[in-house]
Amino acid sequence: MNSETDVQTEQIDIAVIGAGLGGAAAAALLEAEGFKVDVFEQAPEFVRLGAGIHIGPNVMKIFRKLGLEDRLAGIGAHPDFWFSRDGRTGEYLSRIKLGDFAKSEYGAPYITIHRGDLHAEQIAILPKERLHFDHRLTDIEEREDHVLLSFANGKQVAAKLVIGADGINSAIREKLLGVEKPRFSGWIGHRALVDMDKLRATGLEYERCVKWWWEQSRHIMAYATKGDDSEYYYVTGVPVDSWNHTEGFVDSSREEMEAIFGDNAHPMVRGLIDATTEVTKWPFWNRDPMSLWSQGRLCMLGDACHPMRPHMAQGACMAIEDAAVLARSLTLTGAEDYKTAFKIYENARRERATKVQTISNANTWLKQPEDPAWVYAYDPLTVELT
Ligand code: FAD
Repeated sequence: MNSETDVQTEQIDIAVIGAGLGGAAAAALLEAEGFKVDVFEQAPEFVRLGAGIHIGPNVMKIFRKLGLEDRLAGIGAHPDFWFSRDGRTGEYLSRIKLGDFAKSEYGAPYITIHRGDLHAEQIAILPKERLHFDHRLTDIEEREDHVLLSFANGKQVAAKLVIGADGINSAIREKLLGVEKPRFSGWIGHRALVDMDKLRATGLEYERCVKWWWEQSRHIMAYATKGDDSEYYYVTGVPVDSWNHTEGFVDSSREEMEAIFGDNAHPMVRGLIDATTEVTKWPFWNRDPMSLWSQGRLCMLGDACHPMRPHMAQGACMAIEDAAVLARSLTLTGAEDYKTAFKIYENARRERATKVQTISNANTWLKQPEDPAWVYAYDPLTVELT
């Protein structure tokens, strides 16, 4: 122990800050490799947040390693295709094969699932005694042989390594790169779980995964979130001039959906609007690719180092891929040689994460027929590490 550290301060090996999708994955994967990991999450307890999320075969391979693949595949929906369609005429712009094709060609299923269901499964496999809710990181002090972490609840720990999986407003990013608010991307999204009875009453057969497109790349991405098709969700993307609310999200309405998408809408889009009872709208925040991902004993992953607009449905997938590659890098070098491990990790991840960030922000993914193999066939568990 360093003499500067109070004798009462708990000593730990690896601290993961944030138990979101990326942090929970990092903790589970590092534990599986034999590291001792403590996770610190600001939320007072686990809450089933969010709504729909896509998990590609690239990440289902990681859940296979964690023993979660079959459970998640049992809960989530399995779209046979990602369709892109014109929001007025219904014309098919692309039909990207998923379903059995994803299993045979990309090595694992492609699922769509409620984010809360996914997160609950990830949290359930973490050792309870090392998952610390109600721990908001407020201060980081780098010492010679550890990092002193202070939390809003008054606790302090001395960690040998710190992984910042604390999202777009990351305290670790702030420590490494200074205070800078994320930028409003100029886009918002409306999010709604639709009323299934109203949807069924249309008599139309809703596809399990379809993105409806309009001018300026405005869109509605609609999909099932449960294997039994009992839940259907949509998230929109709409360019706007500004976001003037202080809240993280605000209420929207069916009328607003009608005003944005209702003009000559295809009958299936009309059905979606009519089946909307509660809908909220959210700003999408962004940052440019970062000049560094790690420094000293601190390292970042996921939205902390490459946030993106969500239009490629790969933001969390990138966070979980990061977690897998970081765990492998540390296993390769051993925790003592964390500097080499962090370099190997960034070498393996920077180009891919930046490419996904760029395409996601451009909102062009799968609008036209294209081969998605470079995203979905990627295997973070075998990709070469140099
Ligand atoms: P987060 O999920 O933001 O987790 C960060 C965690 O850190 C949180 O639990 C937070 O409470 C905690 N935290 C923050 N600060 C502190 C602190 N100081 N101390 C302690 N804890 C702290 N991705 C996909 O892969 N597929 C999709 O289909 C998809 N759809 C999306 C739809 C929408 C509308 C949006 C907005 C995003 C979507 N994404 C999708 C992206 C995805 O949600 C994010 O990229 C992903 O959640 C990032 O994970 P993360 O673990 O890096 O960060």
